[in-house]
Amino acid sequence: MVESLDETDAERLGYFAAKGSLPKKLEGRGAYLLNSSAFALDFFERKKTPFFLMIEAANIDSGGHSNSTSTIVSEMLDFDEVIGKIIAYVDVNPNTLLIITADHETGGVSIPQGDIATSTVELAYHSDDHTGIMVPVFAYGAHSGDFRGVYENTEIYHKIMKLVMEFHQK
Ligand SMILES: [Zn+2]
Repeated sequence: MVESLDETDAERLGYFAAKGSLPKKLEGRGAYLLNSSAFALDFFERKKTPFFLMIEAANIDSGGHSNSTSTIVSEMLDFDEVIGKIIAYVDVNPNTLLIITADHETGGVSIPQGDIATSTVELAYHSDDHTGIMVPVFAYGAHSGDFRGVYENTEIYHKIMKLVMEFHQK
């Protein structure tokens, strides 16, 4: 479906991918997140104007709610492919800022053990809800240094808006 939109010159575009929610990766979603993210990058690239793109890997949260390690791992690996794609984009468009974070932790997840040699991990859960556990903020590219440190997550908004006001309004 996404492929048929490849050559659109629409000013704005919305796409509803499913009537309810998309299937999880383990339920056969395939490379939907990667393909739709690549499409969004191409769409904005054709416009040759500054853009803000938000990509959410929403089912990592679902896996935390259901305490499903296989869901969390498969959704994280799916998201990791998207991150790789965006990092490659930033490498050839160095005026781009990439921020990767979570709006919260879900499940109170800890990792009692794992084995790098066998690529296995054991997760322990302390909740089936969102928690206040600190989440990482990874930033890459232009002005990524502005996102170092420990701060309230609402600061991310202010940090982004400061950059937008500084560079986009000119
Ligand atoms: Zn949630």
